[in-house]
Amino acid sequence: MPELPEVETVAQGLRRRALGRRIASVEVRHASVIGGSAEEFATTLATRKLANVLRKGKAIAVELTSENGSPPRFLLVRLGMTGQLTVAPHEAPIELHTHVIMALDDGREELRFRDIRRFGRLRSLTAQELEKVFGALGPDAQRVTEQEFQAAMRRRKGAIKSWLMNQNLVAGLGNIYADEALFEARIHPLSQPGRVSADRARLLFKSVRKVLGRAVNLGGTTFSDYMDLEGRPGAFLNKLRVYQHTGEPCRRCGHAIRRIVIAGRSSHFCPRCQPRPRAVAKMRGPRKTAK
Ligand SMILES: [Zn+2]
Repeated sequence: MPELPEVETVAQGLRRRALGRRIASVEVRHASVIGGSAEEFATTLATRKLANVLRKGKAIAVELTSENGSPPRFLLVRLGMTGQLTVAPHEAPIELHTHVIMALDDGREELRFRDIRRFGRLRSLTAQELEKVFGALGPDAQRVTEQEFQAAMRRRKGAIKSWLMNQNLVAGLGNIYADEALFEARIHPLSQPGRVSADRARLLFKSVRKVLGRAVNLGGTTFSDYMDLEGRPGAFLNKLRVYQHTGEPCRRCGHAIRRIVIAGRSSHFCPRCQPRPRAVAKMRGPRKTAK
């Protein structure tokens, strides 16, 4: 499933290949990937120019301006699990599961949205509607300040793994990069955010930045479906240290990587480098303070 590095790679591709170009026509082949009315989607976006590409967390918003001076619209793109956005020549065969085709300029190239599982969504939004969507997300994981990051951890209970993946707190991380960042910071995935020391929280903040930065530089991670705007897979897969490496030796200490399930999702970690905090087993209810 695409996370921040994959989505950022797609956003960079859009900036490179589509910025300044005009959407000549919009063809919706499968309306279930459109949020709201497919007809309205097509009519509000056609003839507009791609003026800017924004990203927050795993959401992309393309600002579309019109020549007649009407207020800008925003094309919101969520890749979901298997969504792919590519620029293809008009004559390239249309692959199965291609649900939306937007002809660019003179129609010789097209922006195509393909999504096998159809959890991805495209929407046409006004500026106010976009503000609401972006406003519901926490700060972006690449732009969050250390202060914001630490403040969001304070007094938080539950597993830090789930905390990292909560898009309302910090936006952009999913299962892969949350596991990798926790490994980098040597934090057990069941640790409580509010109980992590300030030094360790700072290390986690830096680890999130580091892991995401490296993955963006390599175009993200491809397991099966993810590809960039040019149709190329990401190259971060063989840089993963723990994610889906269950049973393999830890690169740091040699101990076997373990997998546990937290809130229905697999978590991969090194039990030696990321020891389970004592507090997790014992501190379930409210803390009693001894005099
Ligand atoms: Zn280890």
